[in-house]
Amino acid sequence: MTEIPTPPQFTHLCDRCGRPLDAREVRFVAKIQVFASPGPIVVDSGDLLRGHRDEIAALIRQCAQMTEEELMKDVFVEFKFDLCLRCQRDFIANPMPVVRGAA
Ligand SMILES: [Zn+2]
Repeated sequence: MTEIPTPPQFTHLCDRCGRPLDAREVRFVAKIQVFASPGPIVVDSGDLLRGHRDEIAALIRQCAQMTEEELMKDVFVEFKFDLCLRCQRDFIANPMPVVRGAA
């Protein structure tokens, strides 16, 4: 009796190379979080004596013109990628490629 091969069932696409991923193969998930990491808050006597009312009002006006998504992008962004085995290996070998011309 001849076994009939089961057709592949694709459940995901590799987000890096675009190859369909068969449900039977290992899929890798890469999560990247990019968030603001403020340094220590430094307050001197000048800051304590200075009025901040106008500065705060200007910030509120600026924020009022932005969407919630625009405001969040400056604070926290998360990415999630599905990867095939080949792309997982390439990604972990070089997760942060050098950007030429920056700086
Ligand atoms: Zn891939």
